[in-house]
Amino acid sequence: MTQVADAPVAPVADALRAGFDARITRSRRWRRDQLRALRRMLVENRPVVEQALRTDLGKHPTEAVITEIGMVIAEIDYALPRLRRWMRARTVPLPLTLAPARGRIAPEPLGVVLIIGPWNYPLQLVLNPLVGALAAGNAAVVKPSELAGATSALLADLLPRYLDRRAVAVVEGGADVTGELLEQRFDHIFFTGSEKVGAIIAAAAARTLTPVTLELGGKSPAYIDGSVDLAVAARRIMWGKLLNAGQTCVAPDYLLAAPATARGLLPHLERAARELYGADAKTSPDYGRIVTARHTERLAGMLADAEPAFGGDVSVADRYVAPTVVDAVAADSPLMQEEIFGPILPIVHVGSAAEARAFIRARPKPLAAYVFSRRRRVRRAFLAETSSGGLSFGVPAAHLGAPQLPFGGVGASGMGSYHGEQSFRTFSHRKSVLDKPLRPDSMRLAYPPYRGRVKALLLRLMVRGR
Ligand code: NAD
Repeated sequence: MTQVADAPVAPVADALRAGFDARITRSRRWRRDQLRALRRMLVENRPVVEQALRTDLGKHPTEAVITEIGMVIAEIDYALPRLRRWMRARTVPLPLTLAPARGRIAPEPLGVVLIIGPWNYPLQLVLNPLVGALAAGNAAVVKPSELAGATSALLADLLPRYLDRRAVAVVEGGADVTGELLEQRFDHIFFTGSEKVGAIIAAAAARTLTPVTLELGGKSPAYIDGSVDLAVAARRIMWGKLLNAGQTCVAPDYLLAAPATARGLLPHLERAARELYGADAKTSPDYGRIVTARHTERLAGMLADAEPAFGGDVSVADRYVAPTVVDAVAADSPLMQEEIFGPILPIVHVGSAAEARAFIRARPKPLAAYVFSRRRRVRRAFLAETSSGGLSFGVPAAHLGAPQLPFGGVGASGMGSYHGEQSFRTFSHRKSVLDKPLRPDSMRLAYPPYRGRVKALLLRLMVRGR
């Protein structure tokens, strides 16, 4: 089922609920077949998928494979051989006071879920949640971002051709269409996008007490000190920053460094940008574009009063922003007020690692934090004293590639997480199952009247001192 933007939104959730209620999504075989079909869809259509991502974001085909297509395939390949184990009910030991009895945790699908995606990784950020939703046996409505129109149209064309239409539908459109979708009844809403829209989604979901996962963004900091190989660190930082022209939710948003470290690092950052995308990134086939002219103007506005150490070129017509570093940025600069979401790296000077941690703690909890230091004490202190969705030492953004690591935010950067088994859990209800035989009627111990030696024994058992 596919929907076009200007048509009224069909009661798609109800249509899929009929399929879900008919239990078509329950069997392991169905789930496995859907995941395999999704994998086949990506492999068979790789050239058109790459083309759509090129159209939307100027994404190089190799980058499209590394950060989108390949990541979804990796999630599927991780899930398939583990599905049986994830689906199995797990027996748990119970307290003596309940004996004889058996306790189990039995995962069950939630029902019909809604997956709303952003434009920056328009394929991966709807399909990776879909892998979890299907693995867990749900029906799903996918709402890709209208700002990545080519990818959205392609998903609307391909998904119904490869997946079971009774259980998976794509609805295309923007805020109005999403608003209409939110009027329908879903069993879970999985949203990836901005904090502002995340709050709108959460408020709409609250009306029907629909649970939500919110994968949001924010300003992810990176701290670096002079103990590391600055050339290697600079390459990794610039890679993480310039990937997808800076439009990555886990890109290092800004750098915290002592003035002397910043001075030593700057030439390395400039060299790294040149190594990755040449002297003029505009002519590089590997360098992406900003999603729209409006978003490009926003970035130009952030740079209006800045004096870049290098870069700074903006062409709104070409949706181009050069790799840019601005040193010694004040905390009240326009660059430090909101998530940059572009290829601009401000460096904020701090006097010490402790000051860097205090700077991070004083701001909303970020989606990721990065630390480049060989000093164990420094690394441990960041782990213990700062809070962020993820924390990586020595490399930005790469934690997304590990299905063993749950991915998600905390505080302002989101709630809930996914990837690997965590995706299965996010889209499952872990049902508690207690099974107690009627004989012997050991429950009699708990029945009134509350008298006698047995009761005294029970109380001693339950409220015993240590
Ligand atoms: P966005 O919030 O503008 O849009 C996300 C989705 O919400 C789109 O599908 C859009 O159509 C829909 N939408 C927009 N306005 C709406 C409204 N008023 N009511 C209902 N739905 C509405 O986000 P974006 O600009 O597409 O993405 C950028 C943001 O997403 C950044 O903040 C980035 O950090 C964040 N992000 C987070 C992750 C993550 O995994 N945590 C990944 C990528 C992007």
